[in-house]
Amino acid sequence: MNAPQEYQPQETLTFDNRFTRELPADPEIGNTRRQVTRACYSRVQPTQVAQPQLVAYAREVAEELGLSRAFCESDDFPHIFSGNRVLDSMDPYAMCYGGHQFGNWAGQLGDGRAINLGEIVGPTGKHWVVQLKGAGPTPYSRSADGLAVLRSSIREFLCSEAMYHLGVPTTRALSLVSTGEHVVRDMFYDGNPKPEPGAVVCRVAPSFVRFGNFQIFAARGEIDVLQRLVDYTIRTDFPHLGEPSQATYLAWFEEVCRTTAQMIVHWLRVGFVHGVMNTDNMSILGLTIDYGPYGWLENYDPNWTPNTTDAAGHRYAFGKQPQIAHWNLVQLANAIYPLIEQTEPLEKALSNYVQEFESCWQSTMTHKLGLQAFKPDLDDGLITGLLEILQLAETDMTIFYRRLASLELGAKPVDQLDDATFIQPLFDAYYVPEQLTPETTTRIAAWLRRYHDRVREDGTDNETRRKRMNAVNPKYVLRNYLAQLAIDKAEQGDPSMVHDLLELLRHPYDEQPDKEAYAQKRPDWARQRPGCSMLSCSS
Ligand code: AMP
Ligand code: MG
Repeated sequence: MNAPQEYQPQETLTFDNRFTRELPADPEIGNTRRQVTRACYSRVQPTQVAQPQLVAYAREVAEELGLSRAFCESDDFPHIFSGNRVLDSMDPYAMCYGGHQFGNWAGQLGDGRAINLGEIVGPTGKHWVVQLKGAGPTPYSRSADGLAVLRSSIREFLCSEAMYHLGVPTTRALSLVSTGEHVVRDMFYDGNPKPEPGAVVCRVAPSFVRFGNFQIFAARGEIDVLQRLVDYTIRTDFPHLGEPSQATYLAWFEEVCRTTAQMIVHWLRVGFVHGVMNTDNMSILGLTIDYGPYGWLENYDPNWTPNTTDAAGHRYAFGKQPQIAHWNLVQLANAIYPLIEQTEPLEKALSNYVQEFESCWQSTMTHKLGLQAFKPDLDDGLITGLLEILQLAETDMTIFYRRLASLELGAKPVDQLDDATFIQPLFDAYYVPEQLTPETTTRIAAWLRRYHDRVREDGTDNETRRKRMNAVNPKYVLRNYLAQLAIDKAEQGDPSMVHDLLELLRHPYDEQPDKEAYAQKRPDWARQRPGCSMLSCSS
């Protein structure tokens, strides 16, 4: 190993704080809770923590920011990325935003426990907003403490990076630092509060602006501030659209509709359920943002939600995500309407969302099935049939697609195979073998025969099909029970599984023979265990 190099934090980190420089600030300084009007943000200082220690960092994110390994592994790093040491070039602030929570307008929310340190300019000139989550109260903390626990911080840190390596648009995570302090949480809101280890995640994104950042100004009638934020967003994050004008606003909204549709299709592709798709959790860049009570589909169930707060309504269940994203875009359209004053083009953009979603979904499913191109007359039925058989018996979605890819189609004429033998290679994907009744087996086999014929028709050989499928159907995802095991260990002082999972999930599409255990379906003990199949918003 090389000896650590000398470093100078002030030189290593180049900040260019456009957001605070160009947008209206709350004149009041300090962290006291308040309503903040006519301002995009409030300047705040992170709260000092007792003993910040690095638990993990993502080297790819460090590289994007131009941070050397020596710096990331230095004693300074946890002090800086817990908020203990604020550098001169930083300009810490919390953003003001509102949002619809579970369909209801909630008024001012804002960065209640996220503090943006400023914007780092990476080696390629790209700006990255660097944000600490859990670094103490801000004016937007309402009745909460501004802190975060290790449990939820591990989940955010690992999932951000897992999603990135899966090719899903997402905010990133630079680091996970434990604070050496305890934070009291009532994990299931059932009157059992207990102290848990505290942590700070440093999140990184070109922008953390959400739909709710625009909604708050529209709701308050602060249209001039709304316009400043829209103009700023277009100039900094959508410069290809040209100078702000009514036409540009529309082009911008159309693009937000498109990127949002693409993000949702990615979620469906990999089996991700966000869990809290409130409008304040929707990124204007179409990034997955705010990893709270999210979950990964185990058995394919469109009605599944990991979020116990949503258990009654299933508003944010896996299969509802496309509609909810549309509903959220309608709220964004309402918010920017005062700048456009025409409903028709906004409605057109919203219907383009549906088209974009459909076409991304079709091409994604084509890839997931290893086909060359989507043929509506054949594939609409093929896909509907697939989604039906996935629900006949509890079927692990991730394993199913990998096993489907490995099928040797055409080796023997399919009509010579009995149903049970034909579906045998998929057995691994089923949670409860007894559910594979003769009738279910026949229906699954019937779909497989149809798929077989379609592959034949497509003219794709097994090897090509397998490669195509394995490039979009991950072998490894952050299974809910794996994250929980990593948390259990880390809470006992052993972060090794966090490191193992971070490494594993760097290559989610590759076979990693020595990591086969991490590709196993959820064990029975995890079926009902809190943190594995059920999560609350407590974090
Ligand atoms: P979320 O459900 O995480 O999207 O959070 C909704 C709102 O509550 C946001 O404004 C958060 O910043 C805020 N919030 C969540 N947890 C805390 C906390 N522990 N302290 C302060 N604010 C919080
Ligand atoms: Mg949020």
